[in-house]
Amino acid sequence: METQFEAVIGLEIHVQLQTKSKAFSADSIEYGALPNTQVSPISLGHPGTLPIHNKAAIDNAIKMGLALNCDVRRVNRYARKNYFYADLPKGYQITQFDTPLCNNGSVRIKLSDGTTKNIRLTRIHMEEDTGKSMHDQDLNDTLVDYNRAGTALIEVVTEPDIKTGEEAYAFVTEIRRLVRYLDICDGNMEEGSLRCDANISVMRKGSTTFGTKVEVKNMNSISNVKRAIDFEIKRQTELILSGGTVDGETRGFNGLNGSTFSMRKKEAVNDYRYFPEPDLPPTIVTEEYLSAVRATMPELPATLYSRFTESYGLSDYDASVLVDDKHSALYFEEVVKHTPKYKQASNWISGPIRGYLNENALGMDDFCLKPAQIAEIIELIESNKISHTAATQQLFPAMTQNADASAESIVGTLGLANITDTSFIDGLVQTVLAEFPEKVTEYRAGKVGLLGLFVGEVMKRSKGKADPKTANALVKAVLEQD
Ligand code: ADP
Ligand code: MG
Repeated sequence: METQFEAVIGLEIHVQLQTKSKAFSADSIEYGALPNTQVSPISLGHPGTLPIHNKAAIDNAIKMGLALNCDVRRVNRYARKNYFYADLPKGYQITQFDTPLCNNGSVRIKLSDGTTKNIRLTRIHMEEDTGKSMHDQDLNDTLVDYNRAGTALIEVVTEPDIKTGEEAYAFVTEIRRLVRYLDICDGNMEEGSLRCDANISVMRKGSTTFGTKVEVKNMNSISNVKRAIDFEIKRQTELILSGGTVDGETRGFNGLNGSTFSMRKKEAVNDYRYFPEPDLPPTIVTEEYLSAVRATMPELPATLYSRFTESYGLSDYDASVLVDDKHSALYFEEVVKHTPKYKQASNWISGPIRGYLNENALGMDDFCLKPAQIAEIIELIESNKISHTAATQQLFPAMTQNADASAESIVGTLGLANITDTSFIDGLVQTVLAEFPEKVTEYRAGKVGLLGLFVGEVMKRSKGKADPKTANALVKAVLEQD
């Protein structure tokens, strides 16, 4: 039934730009301040005040455009979008109307079946944020906090290229990763620094005419974007199948039960009376300005991924995990400056280090050990000075407690060094083989898989400290000699 329909989805993502001050005033944008403490007359739109451009905000917007392979506009004009609402003290929002900063551009997303898909972007424009209505702070009234009013935003608008909740999930995840790489936004959807509205319609499979779209707002996590879309596709499909028609409207999302609910009928563009902003000069983006901004951009995940797979020979999976987080990727590159053991370096970051950070609710940028120290641990294992088990279970935890000590000195203090003394290990081999006479017979009759059992026993008796290579060689030698 449902398969007779296909969904059409376009996303509008608002990214709050992490500048020190607002888009057109010196007010701070620090999150979590007491309500209405970061509001100057400019933010409140008092008569006679004038906006002034925040260059950092424009720099950040351009970075995003370059990262998404957009055409960046040379002459950027601003417009007023007029409407009345309690969270908009000026009565209009400064935005860009017919001259968005960026056009074209696209984002490549990766889906769970391993395929990739290109999502085209319609535009990215600059605008300012509104204040925030708070419906849950007072029993009877809605309160308004204007601290957010005037914060610089960019809005990224996609073409209706998205077909499923999963694709939308991948798209928003990629946008969040990029804004974090570029350091222009913390990408936190719970706190609202990244917000996503989803436009959703359904149509008969293969149709070339789109159905009526519904815009869903208020999803405070990426998985809720997916849930809202999945819900809406089902709702609209069932509505049409039961003979109804979809209303063009704005709907909210209820995270508790995963449903959407009607908020208001959609406004038409001309209701906003867009007109050119008279108080701001256009922003001229010269070739020199573009190059200067480009020069401050970090390497992006796609570039790092190529290098990690091609130059360092990491698997698709390992490279993907590392580049998911910029700090992990950069840390990896530092570790491999000190050791050529690329795969091991990746394993340490995605394994013990990630585990330690998660346990302590830390980010990679807070990690106490230097990349050279991790390289030192890897080298100790590779040169058989310490077993992998001793390294992960004892040495690493001890180092995180005492980040100034060298790995070598901790190995000494805790007595973690591998035992390479052949006569000692040989003694253990003799004991073990004497204890398992039947297994020895079976081994000699061809059951060579038993080698692991003997070596395992030797390791156990040495409390994990026998050098495994020596133990292996000695067990083999004794078994094959008699
Ligand atoms: P509006 O005029 O309502 O703001 P736009 O044409 O500006 O609509 O598109 C807003 C977003 O909705 C874009 O991401 C666009 O790709 C998407 N969109 C447009 N038409 C449809 C549709 N029929 N179904 C789903 N998404 C759509
Ligand atoms: Mg629009």
